[in-house]
Amino acid sequence: MQNMVILGATGSIGSSTLSVIGHNPEQYNVYGLVANSSVDKMLALCIEHKPRYAHMVDANAAKALKAKLPVNLSTEVITGEDELIDLVSASAVDTVMAAIVGAAGLRSTFAAVKSGKRVLLANKEALVMSGELFMNATRDSGATLLPVDSEHNAIFQCLPTEVQSNLGECDLTASGISHILLTGSGGPFLTADLATLDAMTPAQACNHPNWSMGPKISVDSATMMNKGLEFIEARWLFNTNAEQLKVVIHPQSVIHSMVQYLDGSVIAQMGNPDMRTPIAHCMSFPERIYAGVEPLDFFKVRELSFCEPDYNRFPCLALAMQACEKGQEATTVLNAANEIAVDAFLNQHIKFTDIARVNETCLDKVPQSSLSTIEDIMNLDAQARDIAKEAIKAIN
Ligand code: NAD
Ligand code: MG
Repeated sequence: MQNMVILGATGSIGSSTLSVIGHNPEQYNVYGLVANSSVDKMLALCIEHKPRYAHMVDANAAKALKAKLPVNLSTEVITGEDELIDLVSASAVDTVMAAIVGAAGLRSTFAAVKSGKRVLLANKEALVMSGELFMNATRDSGATLLPVDSEHNAIFQCLPTEVQSNLGECDLTASGISHILLTGSGGPFLTADLATLDAMTPAQACNHPNWSMGPKISVDSATMMNKGLEFIEARWLFNTNAEQLKVVIHPQSVIHSMVQYLDGSVIAQMGNPDMRTPIAHCMSFPERIYAGVEPLDFFKVRELSFCEPDYNRFPCLALAMQACEKGQEATTVLNAANEIAVDAFLNQHIKFTDIARVNETCLDKVPQSSLSTIEDIMNLDAQARDIAKEAIKAIN
């Protein structure tokens, strides 16, 4: 029986994780659920899963949840930053699903890594911000890091054992690997007339053709910043250089990524686009469990197609690749700028195409910093958010 803490329990990944646990109740126990402020969603989850702890980041939400919990439920409602770190680091906890969205997830995800847990990583922004520190902490604590992001999970599944067990420090060439092919659907605007992108609404941007996800990652998929963040994520997980990592557009999202070997072989991982597959894989690795996912039917799929990314259509992808080349300061700044820009777009303060403009402005203004602790990274993140807010003011 694995005791699990789910960070971001009320979100899309949180709910898929709880669905996989629901299919395998004899193997997984919900020890802690963590969310920001959705009281009613958390209440329903507490009643269904009876966790030992329910943590609400928002103190008022914690109070409201406490008042609503049925008296016969022994769940303890907690709040506070230190309490959250204590919860993920508790000795009773075996596995932490890191699925808080954005930079807000960095501290708790990092704490899970530092305390040597089995960490199922969905919160890609944490790795984009702190890559080197994060991978070093994983090595030093002996934590087991498993990638939940469908592409990275696919790549992981296509890699030999010696690479799987040495993430961050693996030598791909020595293992006979020439390239990692990171696939992406191209999102809802892959074929839209470029002249119409200016006027795209949040609802259109969030209307992903294949995946159902939270609002931030949905917008990131429309700009392909998501693929850019994933490019950076892959760089750290698989210790790649720029030549080893290629982005391939594959609109059907049936292949979730591939590994190309020196002898010409390409190994791909396929399945229906349902996050319960990579989540279940991470939960049970190296074994397999039932995930509740419909099996892939090739007669329904019929066709798989591929094309190169158009950086003119997806400038955010190019910015992320540049930031990856520049290093940790640049990727932290880009991530923060993008969170502010996406939020402004979702709140209809800027246009869809302004997201790339804000990101580019911020990337040009990366302050000199030395990033040797998580606090350094959070400080740079805060500075970049201020620069992004200024850039948004300048647009309006
Ligand atoms: P979501 O918006 O559906 O859920 C976000 C969760 O984070 C919620 O539970 C919310 O309460 C919590 N949260 C938000 N702000 C918080 C804060 N300040 N402090 C603590 N908790 C906070 O997001 P999602 O789509 O589930 O994505 C979660 C993460 O997983 C993201 O990093 C995303 O990139 C990654 N991811 C998601 C998918 C997907 O299919 N949804 C796929 C790959 C990776
Ligand atoms: Mg992904």
